[in-house]
Amino acid sequence: METVDTVIHARWVAPVEPYGVVLDHHGVAVRGGRIVEVGPSAALEKRYRAETTRRLNDHLLIPGLINAHTHASMSLLRGMADDLPLMTWLTEHIWPAEQRWVSEQFVRDGSTLAMAEMLLGGVTCFNDMYFFPEVTAQVAHQVGMRAVLGMIVINVPSAYGDGPEDYLEKGLAFHDTYKDDPLIRAIFAPHAPYTVSDPWLKRVRTYSEELDLPVHIHVHETAGEVRNSVRETGKRPLQRLDELGLVSPMLLAVHATQLEAQEMDRLAEAGAHVIHCPESNLKLASGFCPAAGLLERGVNVALGTDGAAANNDLDMIGEMRTAALLGKAAAGDPAAMPAAAVLRMATLDGARALGLDDVTGSLAPGKFADLTAVSLAGLDVQPVYHPISQLVYAATRHHVTDVWVAGRPLVHDRRLTTVDTGEATAQAMAWRDRISGAGSTGGPPNTDETRGLEA
Ligand SMILES: [Zn+2]
Repeated sequence: METVDTVIHARWVAPVEPYGVVLDHHGVAVRGGRIVEVGPSAALEKRYRAETTRRLNDHLLIPGLINAHTHASMSLLRGMADDLPLMTWLTEHIWPAEQRWVSEQFVRDGSTLAMAEMLLGGVTCFNDMYFFPEVTAQVAHQVGMRAVLGMIVINVPSAYGDGPEDYLEKGLAFHDTYKDDPLIRAIFAPHAPYTVSDPWLKRVRTYSEELDLPVHIHVHETAGEVRNSVRETGKRPLQRLDELGLVSPMLLAVHATQLEAQEMDRLAEAGAHVIHCPESNLKLASGFCPAAGLLERGVNVALGTDGAAANNDLDMIGEMRTAALLGKAAAGDPAAMPAAAVLRMATLDGARALGLDDVTGSLAPGKFADLTAVSLAGLDVQPVYHPISQLVYAATRHHVTDVWVAGRPLVHDRRLTTVDTGEATAQAMAWRDRISGAGSTGGPPNTDETRGLEA
């Protein structure tokens, strides 16, 4: 018998690759943090002696979910300003709050809260765009979560940096520190075409080619963004990015709610990726990403929650359901965006967009054991005919019981193993008190003319 660290047996295993497959009474053998074999439980019992064996008799085991676009620290602003038009929300509430409060401590507490929430909901990896990525990286390390962290670029100063040059310098230093890290990756994250000017977008393109790193940017989030761009530059934002050489397999276009047919063709031809954030788009009434049309053309579409101030949760199981339902409604076709497709968007397609598909996103030998177990024992998810359908259309994140990243259990029986839940909650409450009591009880505010990264 071969020795392995862990064997996890489950009633059902959905490896995501091959597409739509569900394996009955299968398990995953793990050694050194990586998957050794996915096979029938009976065969694994004969072949491996495991230090730890986990039996999940009523569960569906899937690859860990990948949140392909978020602003983790903004969890501290969850629910601060809702039911407002996008520009009022941003300019009168979110940006002033960020201007006043963003600091290393804000990012430490906010990203801890976000990671705790994501892990409990079955998310094992997230792609973040925010200030102080080195602080988020430290938290991800402590927590044991996989993180792709943005080297942000934005025209305006913040508590983190005084302008694009400073941001890029700090970002590149961050990349250098973490370039060999098994859990952390750096990615370019210019905020949006309307907040980063051409010379800096060109610099990002050059560095992206040199370092072979993707570029994660909000694009065509609203009709207003496109209209303003046409008025100011004579070009739609995507056309401007294309002329700057940024529409390529390295591009992760977040939102993309305003796409004409030839723009979808162009994204397909270029091999660019789209990050679909349906709940944020719905809440801010931004528009509808034509996800089904993009998939038809062969564009890789990943799924993200956006920040908790715009969603207001970091729940990828909920996001899968919204993506499926909205996709059907938007396409006028109930067969559009089937459950297996949205599961792949929330796992393997996210890994592909992030350049991590050799590492995570599906259950295959050699990949890291990033796994999520969902209990389908409850009456609200019974009876089970099709486990993937059940996951997308009936289950919620509260059905997640166990989560592993690189074979390490980070959620065990619905409890976080590396985050003190009480402390993370208390920090969030303390920030709420500080922010809503600002002026009388608030600490020293940031004084720079700054602007945030949300939207
Ligand atoms: Zn965003």
